Amino acid sequence: SAFEYAPAPESRSVVDIAPSYGLFIDGEFTDAADGKVFKTVSPASEEVLAEIAQAGAADVDRAVKAARKAFEKWSALPGSERAKYLFRIARIIQERSRELAVLETLDNGKPIRETRDADLPLVAAHFFYYAGWADKLDHAGYGANPRPLGVAGQVIPWNFPLMMLAWKIAPALATGNTVVLKPAQTTPLSALFFADICRQAGLPKGVVNILTGYGDAGAALVEHPDVNKVAFTGSTAVGKAIARQVAGTSKKVTLELGGKGANIVFDDAPIDQAVEGIVSGIFFNQGQVCCAGSRLLVQESIHDELIDSLKRRLTTLRLGDPLDKNTDIGAINSAEQLARITALADTGEAEGAERWSAPCELPNAGYWFAPTLFTNVSQSHTVARDEIFGPVLSVLTFRTPDEAVAKANNSQYGLSAGIWTEKGSRILAVANKLRAGVVWANTFNKFDPTSPFGGYKESGFGREGGRHGLEGYLDV
Ligand code: NAD
Repeated sequence: SAFEYAPAPESRSVVDIAPSYGLFIDGEFTDAADGKVFKTVSPASEEVLAEIAQAGAADVDRAVKAARKAFEKWSALPGSERAKYLFRIARIIQERSRELAVLETLDNGKPIRETRDADLPLVAAHFFYYAGWADKLDHAGYGANPRPLGVAGQVIPWNFPLMMLAWKIAPALATGNTVVLKPAQTTPLSALFFADICRQAGLPKGVVNILTGYGDAGAALVEHPDVNKVAFTGSTAVGKAIARQVAGTSKKVTLELGGKGANIVFDDAPIDQAVEGIVSGIFFNQGQVCCAGSRLLVQESIHDELIDSLKRRLTTLRLGDPLDKNTDIGAINSAEQLARITALADTGEAEGAERWSAPCELPNAGYWFAPTLFTNVSQSHTVARDEIFGPVLSVLTFRTPDEAVAKANNSQYGLSAGIWTEKGSRILAVANKLRAGVVWANTFNKFDPTSPFGGYKESGFGREGGRHGLEGYLDV
């Protein structure tokens, strides 16, 4: 029998959510010019969390003007001064991390263990890391005195709302750019709390502007003639539309798009460790991760043993209240995303792949999908090719390392891959042949602000993180 979902009251009280929020323009919260609003709901319960101002083209114009005005002073500050603001923001994020973690979990549906132990520490680390660069840009390898581009228009998705914000805003500010950022419509809250943190840190008005709203506001931002740089993370379809939009303008653009990561397990891999890595590779954040290890490539001789262990492990995962610290699998972010996942999984079954789902009770309200495996998958199956962006793993087999590499590279995407083997020489040999922006060995989904992240092929271009993350915001 399905159970009712009720958020754990003690964790819910950590954060104070107001009934409504405005756009953050020029240091002030304000209504949309046309007064439009939308609601943000908790995907775990469908409870309305707050009413949010919905930006339109007039608001985009207002925000870009504020960012342009702020750019003159902000870009003229010594790097050491900009660093002080970024360090201050990083420290406030640490101080308010419980509040932010609960808020993010409520708005996104991801387990609190992930927001608390992964998202929030990485968000703070990202601001600390780029704060450190702000006064060292002359030494970044781009020649003396590299210049900021101007106003950055940034559009982010809902899967890691605050982390994607950090990946965009920290390097932009460190290099002296100002920002207009549009969070995804299903997860606006943490970006608005971040706006409040900017005020708390005394950040000059207009340096950061947050426009909540839908894709039309994102498109208006991309199109705005006074935006110098477009940074986008999201679907490949929208990424391509943005590339077309900026073609023929002087705007610089970086795109972080979809993925279909291959997680390759050789017959000498430590099986228990590999099983843990496979599980975190695809079920972390309900698989709504662009670099998820959504294709498992297993060496044929260990296929049955590995799948048995994997199924046993999956039956122990706990799905439910994302605010419960023992929850492994939270809610899917939206009804639309759940419908997409469901349709793709149904296609997998219709095309003849073998479907297995972890036996778990799904709550009545909210958007849920049980961890699912597809075996007997061939490379032509939709579930082997399309990004599902959900808790669905497709299992393929291979016999030789060369076949593993060929199958891993047989994708329109090239964002991530994983290798599991005891042999160091094999790790290096295989990693060098994989066309993927990040390759993990005997681990998966490990992030660090010092490492550049980004895609090959249709997974996008440009890098975020590390010294390379500065490049997208500088003229050299
Ligand atoms: P999306 O690309 O539609 O949305 C991402 C962001 O872009 C949102 O803020 C959205 O409002 C905005 N947007 C939408 N249309 C726009 C336009 N024409 N111009 C400018 N901005 C626009 O992604 P989605 O609908 O949230 O998710 C759909 C798929 O995208 C997922 O199933 C998944 O495949 C992929 N995705 C990838 C990532 C990633 O990190 N690479 C993240 C989220 C989603």
